[in-house]
Formats: sequence, structure tokens, C-alpha cells
Amino acid sequence: MSYRRTVDFLLHDWLGVASLRERARFADHSRETFDSVLDTCERIAREKYAPFNRVADTEEPWFDGEKVHLPQSSHDAAEAFFGSGMLAAAQDYELGGMQLPCVVEMAANSFFAKAAIGIGGGMLTSGNANLLMAHGTPMQQEVFAKNEFTGRFSGTMCLSEPQAGSSLSDIVTRATPDGADHVSDPLGPRYRLRGNKMWISNGEHELTENIVHLVLAKIPDADGQLVPGTRGISLFIVPKKLVGVDGALTGERNDVSLAGLNHKLGYRGIPNTLLNFGEGRYPVRGAAGAIGYLVGQPGQGLRAMFHMMNEARIAVGLGAAMLGFAGYEASLEYAKSRPQGRPIGPGGKDASKPQVRIIEHADVRRMLLAQKSYCEGALALELYCARLVDELHTGVDDARARASVLLEVLTPIAKSWPSEWCLEANSLAIQVLGGYGYTRDFPVEQYWRDNRLNMIHEGTHGIQALDLLGRKVVMDGGGGLALLRSAMAATAARAAAIDSLAGHAQALGAAADHLVVATRAAWATGVADEALANATPYLQAFGHVVLAWIWLDVAVCAARLPSDDTLVGKLAACRYFFHYELPRIDAWLGVVERRDDTCRMLAEECF
Ligand SMILES: Cc1cc2nc3c(=O)[nH]c(=O)nc-3n(C[C@H](O)[C@H](O)[C@H](O)COP(=O)(O)OP(=O)(O)OC[C@H]3O[C@@H](n4cnc5c(N)ncnc54)[C@H](O)[C@@H]3O)c2cc1C
Repeated sequence: MSYRRTVDFLLHDWLGVASLRERARFADHSRETFDSVLDTCERIAREKYAPFNRVADTEEPWFDGEKVHLPQSSHDAAEAFFGSGMLAAAQDYELGGMQLPCVVEMAANSFFAKAAIGIGGGMLTSGNANLLMAHGTPMQQEVFAKNEFTGRFSGTMCLSEPQAGSSLSDIVTRATPDGADHVSDPLGPRYRLRGNKMWISNGEHELTENIVHLVLAKIPDADGQLVPGTRGISLFIVPKKLVGVDGALTGERNDVSLAGLNHKLGYRGIPNTLLNFGEGRYPVRGAAGAIGYLVGQPGQGLRAMFHMMNEARIAVGLGAAMLGFAGYEASLEYAKSRPQGRPIGPGGKDASKPQVRIIEHADVRRMLLAQKSYCEGALALELYCARLVDELHTGVDDARARASVLLEVLTPIAKSWPSEWCLEANSLAIQVLGGYGYTRDFPVEQYWRDNRLNMIHEGTHGIQALDLLGRKVVMDGGGGLALLRSAMAATAARAAAIDSLAGHAQALGAAADHLVVATRAAWATGVADEALANATPYLQAFGHVVLAWIWLDVAVCAARLPSDDTLVGKLAACRYFFHYELPRIDAWLGVVERRDDTCRMLAEECF
């Protein structure tokens, strides 16, 4: 089974993406144009990324006091990626884009993530530019976004500060108007920023001519005080090097400096930085303070940033799924060639008989099928969400509204589920290799280290859980959950008509009902503390029910096609998920519906 075969099956047989060409925006596309984008990305990933995955891990970025250095292979990979046009893939033709559907764009980008996630693709840059296309002025789009789409400039997102990670309302970076004429700057109202931003990915490097930082900061009120909460947060473009209205560099360095690089467990090829804004290291026009141009209205910064973060969350989930896949492929190959032990049963202890390959042991098959069910299921979920994004952008009214609600509810799962379970897949890949898996002679330990990030950034696991149970499933009177429940019921109805899937259909119905009952029970007292104390077990159960639904929907499609090994494998992974995974939800939902207070009430001294 090749990864490409799975991608093609999901895109064409399951999601029917060819039908998107009936929409005006995608009318010039065809199966051939989609295939050629996938072919190009697959080739670049194979030639410029995969061979250098370990190099990016071992030759970490280093700072000479002026510049951050990366291995030559990372420069070559970036050049090939920029040249592929993928940064602007979803954009209009007039912007040099391909008007590619989001679902095909995500599938194409998955090849890079699977080959070498630690080298990094263009997710931050295209997300940054997309945000400016939605919230920036025409001039900001022309000068900054367009140069990001070509790869001339790259982008970052600067939210976190040393003292403010999950709680962004507590950021203290300040933005003050820069001079009496500050409102009339053609690049947008001009401010001076001062503060520190922590953990900024790609915050300093020489891969592009310039770096466009999108920075959250607070504009002090008339008394010089920062407005508490998220209402006070605004968004600014802070270029590393100043530019004119024609997009040319002016030759002035902005007052943004690298305080240091963070040395990480994984994703080591991507420089991760602590940036100082406005400390006077590079004074601009004789004064300290980084020049920043306001994007949108004051106080609306976080709302605009979320435009970028929702896309980013689907991309994080996809990256986690791809790391899971990479580990699955490596451990499958190993299991097919490693001789060890003899079969259980008569003659099994006879040392004069040849050993079997470890894939012949049932327990190794269990570990392989678990990985397959996690990472193929996660890939299907991410592509489904990306297809919803296309519906949101190009669907007719009803379908668009439905897609919007489903995306709201599914985004925390799209980000979190692969981050937890494809990390578990990576752990199982190590287990399949035994002691060898624990060494650096094989790639699986790196996949695990890389994947460990995904439960932390873009909203930690715990924060995603609070968002799901505290907001997403209760908003609009629980309308999102009800819509998801009806989508699950529709899949179950189709599956019930297929003998081999009818049992799964029933199990999905019961699991979805349990989820609804547990949601109500969690909120039965209306006390947020009680309801949300077990938000993470709720997230886990919710994710498993969603994945069971996705797997059943995929299985209905697979069961209707002429059978082959690939499709039999998919039906087996679905069966694995229903038999080994879905039953776990009862334990998770048990503590949710009892509003179990074991953790919440334990006195601090007793830990
Ligand atoms: C490699 C890497 C790359 C990153 N890239 C970027 C980037 O490009 N731009 C950017 O802005 N940021 C970036 N981040 C920052 C990342 O988003 C934060 O690390 C993350 O939001 C968590 O913040 P924190 O590290 O301060 O942890 P904290 O917020 O201190 O959280 C620590 C723990 O406490 C829990 N917790 C916190 N608050 C609550 C609560 N209210 N209820 C329950 N539990 C809670 C969390 O779930 C977590 O388990 C990156 C981080 C890393 C490690």
C-alpha cells in the first residue's frame, strides 16, 4: 500500500473532489491538474526533503551574533518549495495563485510534512499572507502579502510572551502611536512596539529577503494603562527590514532583535526564537521602538489572528498525522524483514525451525493496525475538514452555513486528536523496532520527538478541551453538536445497509448518544468548574467518536468499490477502531458525567 494510493482514494473515491470543478472558482481544474500538483509536491518532498530529515535534526540552527545559520539542504528545500508555487496555491490567478481547493492544497502539503516536518514548509508564511488578504488594506496586501506568496518574504505569528502562553489576554507588548502623522502612513497607522515575544517559529533566518512578523500588542489608553483582557489586543505588521510602498527594502533595519534560539526536543530544523521588539538594538530614525503598522481596527487583533489560527490548527493536525504515517511506514518495513521468535502453538518452541518475521506475531500486527487506524483516520479527518473549508468558501448558502458550524465543532478535534494519537502511533513504531527503535540509527525516535510538540503549540491539549466542552458544544443551544450527531446518523444509516458494517453502525449510534448524554450531565449543575474539570477526558472521548464516524464513512466507500488489498486493509483498520478503540470512551465519559472531582478537589499539599 503506498501513501499516494491512500491520498488518491480519500480525495477521489471518498470525498469526490473532482465535483468541485462544477464551481466557478475551480472550473479550470480537473483530475489531471490536481494530480500534477500532487506529483510535483511528492517529487520535491522525495528529492529535497526526505534525504535531509536527519540533517535538519542534527545540524540545529545556530546564531553567530548577527545571523542564524541553517544547513544548505534547508535552503535548497525552501527554494524548491517556493518555486513550486504552493505558497499561493489557493490564491486567485491574478495574484499568481492556482485557485486550488483547500482539500487538494492540504493533501499536496502532506508530502512535505511526511518527508521532513522539521525542515518546515510554508504554512506560517501562507497563513500570514492569507490573514492580510482578509484583514489588511490593499496596500498591506500589495507590499507584504504578495511578496510572501512568491517566497520573497516569509511570515511569522507572534502571540506568545514569556509570561503569557495559553492566556493571551495577559500579553504586555505595548504599541504607541509613532508621531503626529502616524495615521497617515500609506502602509497603515504607524506605531512603535516594545516587548518580548517567546517561542516564535522562523523568527530569524536567512531563507528569505525579509521576515514579516504579525505581532499582537496592546495600545495603552489615555492614562498609559493597558486595557485588560483580549479586548485590548491589536494586530501589527512588523517587518524585520523596513520597506517602501513599492515593496523594495529601504535599507533600514527595524528594531527587532534575536535574544536567543530555543533548543528543542524536535522540529529542530525550524529556528525557534525569543525576539525583543523595540529595545533599541537597531534604533529606527534615531529612536528605539520597532515600527509596526496596524492591521484592521484597534482591539480586534485576536479576532483577526484567529483567521490564521484556524487554518493553522488543521495544518497542525495534518502534520501530526504525517509524522504518524512516517513512523507507520518505517515500522511496517522493519516488521516485514526482522526475524525473531517462532509461532505460538505446536512446534513453536522448536529452535531447529527457522524464526519468523515479527510481522507474523499477532501482537506486532496489533501495533501496526493501531498505527494504521490512527494515522489514516487522522488524515481522513483533516482532509474532511479541509473539504469543509472549501464548502465555506464556495458552497451555496445552506451548505456553507452547515460547513461553518461543523468546522467550529471539529477544529479542536482536528488539532488535538492526531496530536495525541499519532504521537501514540510513533510510540508504537518505536515498540515495533524494539531496542533499535530507541536508537538514532533508525528514524522512528525522531518522529516521536517531532510529534511531541503538537499537543503543546497552537493551543495546548487542555486549552482545546476547554474550548470544546466550554464553548463549542454549548454554543447556539448545542446546535453544533446536534448537527454533528445528524451527520453521524446519516453515515450510520448508510453503513447499516452493508452487512459487514451494520454492527459498527449500531456502535456509532450508541457512542454518539452517550456523548450527548455526557455533555448534558457535565453541565447539569451549570457550574463551570464542575463541568470543565474533566474537559480533557471529554475531548478524548469526543475525538474517538468523531474518528469512529470518519472511519465508518470511509469504510462505506471502501466496501462499495471492487475489493483489493488496499481496501481490505482499510476495512480492517475500521474494524480495529471499532473493536479496540471506541469502547474506551465509556471510561472517559464516566468521569465527565459524574463530574468526578478527584483531581479538582485534592488539596495542593497532598500532591
Ligand atoms: C516549538 C514551539 C513553537 C512555537 N511557535 C510559536 C509561534 O510561532 N508563535 C507563537 O506565538 N507561539 C508559539 N509557540 C508557543 C505555544 O503556542 C505555547 O507554548 C502554548 O500556547 C502554551 O503556552 P506556554 O508554553 O506558556 O504554557 P502554559 O500556558 O504555561 O501552559 C502550561 C500547562 O498549563 C495548562 N494550562 C494553562 N492554562 C490553563 C487553564 N486556564 N486551564 C487549564 N490548564 C491550563 C496548559 O494546558 C499546559 O499543560 C510555540 C511553542 C513551541 C514549544
